[in-house]
Amino acid sequence: MGREKKVLDWSDFPEGFTPFFLDPTGAHLETKELAPGVYALLSSIPNVDNAGFVVGDRGVLVIDAHINVAMARQIQERVREVTDKPILYLVNSNYHGDHTFGNCAFPEETLVIQHRRTAELVPFLDEEMEFMLPCVGGDRAVFEGVTLRLPDAVFDGCLRLDLGGREVELHYFGPANTPGDTITYVPGAKVAWTGNMTGGNLIVALECDAPTYLDAIARFRRTLDVETLVPAHNPVSTDAVLDGYLLYLSQVTAAVRHGAGAGWSLEEAMEKIPLDMGQPYSPPGDHPRIDFFRDLHAYNVQKTYLSIAGNE
Ligand SMILES: [Zn+2]
Repeated sequence: MGREKKVLDWSDFPEGFTPFFLDPTGAHLETKELAPGVYALLSSIPNVDNAGFVVGDRGVLVIDAHINVAMARQIQERVREVTDKPILYLVNSNYHGDHTFGNCAFPEETLVIQHRRTAELVPFLDEEMEFMLPCVGGDRAVFEGVTLRLPDAVFDGCLRLDLGGREVELHYFGPANTPGDTITYVPGAKVAWTGNMTGGNLIVALECDAPTYLDAIARFRRTLDVETLVPAHNPVSTDAVLDGYLLYLSQVTAAVRHGAGAGWSLEEAMEKIPLDMGQPYSPPGDHPRIDFFRDLHAYNVQKTYLSIAGNE
């Protein structure tokens, strides 16, 4: 198999969709110790990427490289405030630029690890920068100095890494927000970095559809004993959010299947399947970002309709 074509394009989004806000200018990463040797790096600007790191006797594993050289350096500064051990591994939770553009600013000795599907998409650096541009206010200077850095190791289902007295597991549960979403799990602490696969109130089936995403969340739920989730773009949460996502994705799947079966057009489906505000997964109606959540939901309905109706 050759390289897969990159799939995301703003023209595929519903009309009026607000681009994700990922501009790191002025962002500070705050170090939060979740368990001994287990640290979340939380962005001071909402939606801008979080990251994290785990320290063992032999060295350090970093989760996500952030969107540019300056933020990748900031991650390494935060690590250095805690330990002078070498950064052995850098894991990218998905291929998007806000998780991988910083790879080039890590030491050569650091092994970059990606899921196979992520590794297939990372080489489309120029296209990814064009796609990311609206997310950073059109400011190309944000990406200055970013060069392509390919992974040193690629995994498929699960990879166990021993940092010395500290085990970390990388898991793949199938396509979710992106084709290669990777969960970084610390079994001893029941902490998982989830990248874009989990969020706050709502998740977005950016590159799949609701039933596919549902499968991935269900596998995650039954495979790992997790208490703390560190998503890339939302505050730290408990595992309870997963149940909300399962409910939401089941409802979207069922509603779209019903609509497609009844002969609804895409426009009708998007009109007749609004975000169900009374549900536990749904943000309150007066949430300051309610329009953003409605955008995400409309996108989920569209992706699911196109895949279900396209298969009939
Ligand atoms: Zn992201």
